[in-house]
Amino acid sequence: MKIITIKNLEKYYGNIQVLKGVNLEIDRGEVFGFVGPNGSGKTTLLECIMGLRKFDGGEVCISNHDVVKEHKKIVYMVGAQLQESELARTIKVKEAIQLQAAIYNLRPDINELLRRFDLTDKGDVYYSTLSGGQKQKLFILLAQLHNPEILIFDELSTGLDPIARTSIWNEILRLKEEGKTILLSTHYMEEAEYVCDRIAMVFNGDIIDIGTPKELVKRLPFKYVAVMTKDDMKYTKMEDEFFGVLMSENEKITVYINDDAQKKKLLNIQKQGKDLELAIRSVNLEDYYQYKINEVRNKQ
Ligand code: ADP
Repeated sequence: MKIITIKNLEKYYGNIQVLKGVNLEIDRGEVFGFVGPNGSGKTTLLECIMGLRKFDGGEVCISNHDVVKEHKKIVYMVGAQLQESELARTIKVKEAIQLQAAIYNLRPDINELLRRFDLTDKGDVYYSTLSGGQKQKLFILLAQLHNPEILIFDELSTGLDPIARTSIWNEILRLKEEGKTILLSTHYMEEAEYVCDRIAMVFNGDIIDIGTPKELVKRLPFKYVAVMTKDDMKYTKMEDEFFGVLMSENEKITVYINDDAQKKKLLNIQKQGKDLELAIRSVNLEDYYQYKINEVRNKQ
């Protein structure tokens, strides 16, 4: 069942159009990811969806409520962590929770919340002393405090170390299990692949592709990627035989392989080569992202 409907959404900053008629429907209970280069319009889109940013054309509805005309209702339906989310350095973690609870007239069990978000001993410490991962967990805690149906996270895991990042991903999946609909933007394809049910690729103010991570990867015109060291191979000949061959300066060659027949062919070449190191892997979302961005940039 649809929970968010976006029709022909347009947004200008001055006379520059940053959203060019976006159409999108998001299902209840989905984790929906937005990926795309910096400046492509992801944050603006998320802010318009939650009614935080005025837009110039089109409409956004959440459960049939217009986010502009019925903004007061939307405030209760959506919780968010935005890129510029910050708290005063000298606020303590418990105080931040109390403050957020007061906005919604709630009296939550703070110790239980701290436990649930892995912040058990942090209630009385200053916000500024939390690690990056703990700060982001606190922002998730605050965003979901009033039990909204929809959560919006803008680059939640940017700058976190790999372990903190994984722990944030698991938090997102836990919220999904609770039935929340989650919209997020990310630059990490591994994250998008891990947590998202569907992904929209945003480029230059529009959605240029949409699908499940598996569907997107399947749309690639090649199936495997091989990385090998330069050796005594006939590089120029290889370019004709495979989907693509990329030479990089670090003595590595990347070969994009169409299918299993070509994979076999490459393995045979390896057998003939002297001490040729070769690693072949299946394509992933990172390959899809790179390919798609190059494709649209080349068309411009
Ligand atoms: P993303 O989240 O994909 O990086 P943004 O939505 O932040 O993209 O930005 C889209 C475009 O809008 C960019 O060109 C950016 O410079 C511009 N932009 C964003 N916010 C503002 C603003 N407040 N005023 C003017 N231009 C803005």
